[in-house]
Amino acid sequence: MIKPRVGISSCLMGEKVRYDGGHKLMQTVLAKVGGWVEWVPFCPEVAMGLGVPREPMHARHGVHGLELVGNQSGSVFSDFLSWNTQLNRVFDGYVFKSKSPSCGLDIPIQPAGSRSFGAFSSRIAGRETAVCEERDLDDSEALVSFFESVFLIAESRVWEARGRAVQDFAATVSLGLRIRGGEPHTIRDYGALRNFLAKPVQSDAVLTLKEALNLDFATDSLCEMRRYVHQLKMGPEFARFSAPVPFEF
Ligand code: SF4
Repeated sequence: MIKPRVGISSCLMGEKVRYDGGHKLMQTVLAKVGGWVEWVPFCPEVAMGLGVPREPMHARHGVHGLELVGNQSGSVFSDFLSWNTQLNRVFDGYVFKSKSPSCGLDIPIQPAGSRSFGAFSSRIAGRETAVCEERDLDDSEALVSFFESVFLIAESRVWEARGRAVQDFAATVSLGLRIRGGEPHTIRDYGALRNFLAKPVQSDAVLTLKEALNLDFATDSLCEMRRYVHQLKMGPEFARFSAPVPFEF
């Protein structure tokens, strides 16, 4: 049974760690997804030793990359060693709080005009990890699609650990996910992927799969993929990954 590990900005879990002493509980999503995944909350600003409440900050380009700067004081916070605890973990997915200079995925960076990942999220976003902001999950189809990717990444990690042939498969799946993000190219027969995962690894199976995927990329496969995503709907399909666990917040 696979239970993906999903990092999350602590304030989205209801922890009162925001600069104003509040939280941004992501109640609807947590109620839906709940115990299907292992949530790993982390607040990078609290981890740095900044108090609650604290001075609001913004991000700017510094000599050694992004810095966090106090809006009023101009104090610079760039000691990110305390983030290593979280950064050293492997995540299948990560849900970030939008608009935060630390956690956001599309925030203004000074000098004014440029936009980028936040100081912390930029250290996660380049990995083989599905990432999104909490506001992306307001749309139910996007929510299902995101967690479907999370489960697939988790599944590929398990198989990756079993041998080189499966490493090839994991790379193929990752490629498929990336291509899927750039419509209209996508994986046509997602069910075939799952069937493949269920079988013992065969020496030429990965090559066959790659060929199948390459063929599929040339077709108008988006409708089939969408239909499959709709079928998931956080329903019985997820039962094969893990047993439901009561979730409290
Ligand atoms: S730094 Fe991130 S986790 Fe902490 S309060 Fe801000 S958005 Fe939430």
